[in-house]
Amino acid sequence: MKLYSTNNTLSEVSFKDAVFNSMPQDKGLYMPYTIPRLDDEFINNIDKYTLPEIAFKVAQNLLGDSIPEADLKALIDEAINFPAPIVKLEDNVYVLELFHGPSLAFKDFGARFMSRVMSYFLEPGEKQLDVLVATSGDTGGAVALGFLGVPNTRVTILYPKGKVSGVQEQQLTTNGQNIRALEVDGTFDDCQALVKQAFVDDELNEKFRLTSANSINIARLVPQTFYYFNAYAQLLRQGIKKVVFSVPSGNFGNIGAGLLAWKMGLPVEKFIAATNANDTVPEFLKTGVYEPKPSVATLSNAMDVGNPSNWVRIADLFKNDTEALKELVVGFKYDDEETVKAINWVFDNYGYVVCPHTAIAWQALTDYKQDHAATDTAGVFLSTAHPCKFPDVFSEEVAAKIDVPEQVKELESKTKLAIAISKDFADFKGYLLGVD
Ligand SMILES: *Cc1c(COP(=O)(O)O)cnc(C)c1O
Repeated sequence: MKLYSTNNTLSEVSFKDAVFNSMPQDKGLYMPYTIPRLDDEFINNIDKYTLPEIAFKVAQNLLGDSIPEADLKALIDEAINFPAPIVKLEDNVYVLELFHGPSLAFKDFGARFMSRVMSYFLEPGEKQLDVLVATSGDTGGAVALGFLGVPNTRVTILYPKGKVSGVQEQQLTTNGQNIRALEVDGTFDDCQALVKQAFVDDELNEKFRLTSANSINIARLVPQTFYYFNAYAQLLRQGIKKVVFSVPSGNFGNIGAGLLAWKMGLPVEKFIAATNANDTVPEFLKTGVYEPKPSVATLSNAMDVGNPSNWVRIADLFKNDTEALKELVVGFKYDDEETVKAINWVFDNYGYVVCPHTAIAWQALTDYKQDHAATDTAGVFLSTAHPCKFPDVFSEEVAAKIDVPEQVKELESKTKLAIAISKDFADFKGYLLGVD
């Protein structure tokens, strides 16, 4: 696979370079030159394949010879080692559960695949890879658990003290091995500023091979296409051939991957971009004006993004043809009050607990269906995280019904290994230089 920057279509780079650089110098995003269609034979018979088999086919279609077949297969079998089931809530309403990975969020698909791709591309004798990541919660957990024990890599996570949930903090801080957690006396923005400064610091770059693991990395996008195909395979097994996906969106990586899957031939009737009050994209789809805004804090905080970084990829996929984009993608937005109402409705009617992000996708699907009743079309809303990660948003009655997974219960007995630092860059740099 060869890639270009969305800011310069002549700037050809390899998959390996795109993975290690994350972002082109010109601040565009990497996109594949060709997105081949999978053959109809495969799509029509996709119900006969397992998730790892589908993942292999799809990855190979996109990556070409960037990773030899046997290596790619082994890499996928290791990375995609948990299921992504659809659960039927009523006729034509399904939830796609993407929270069965180690950090209980869909970001596990991207993080586990990317970590193994990076490790795979390191040549023998090359410097260990130092991944720096600032997190407001979910990204850090997925990256920590995604890289845990991966050879020749070390991860340093910066998180804002007192601003992540209990489960999230435990996922960040109890790993040991090649994962280090820094508890920063500051905000998420302070954490991000520290990481950014490290990337332009000569002394640190001299000493370490620094890389970021942020959501714009192409190696995070590719594996997120797998579960769209796999959801379709599950629908086919139930005799359903038409599907609408509703995707709770923040940085628009998840729905971007869905659109990439569509481009590769997955038959999807419609994508619903569901957001919280950070409604830059739904507004754009309504007015045609793309106007990034500062983010506002909501209950679905993993979607608090006012300027979605993956949007340029989606625009690029449609070659900036807004009309064509609007044919396929519709937008809905909800405030916190509506989010809580949705959580309660789903609980009261289905006995099913959704996290606040997932609740927004369910509400958007429900509202879409009001105007688009079709008995032969399944609506699938993506559940991006397990509800136990966001205990504060639920009423006592709902919270009592949450099935806390075994791996979360185990976290409670583990020791927190975080190191406290100030938000001064000198403190962070001193830590990085001191402990090597
Ligand atoms: C990251 C995240 C999202 C948003 O996904 P994007 O790819 O940034 O649009 C939604 N829900 C949860 C739980 C997340 O962690």
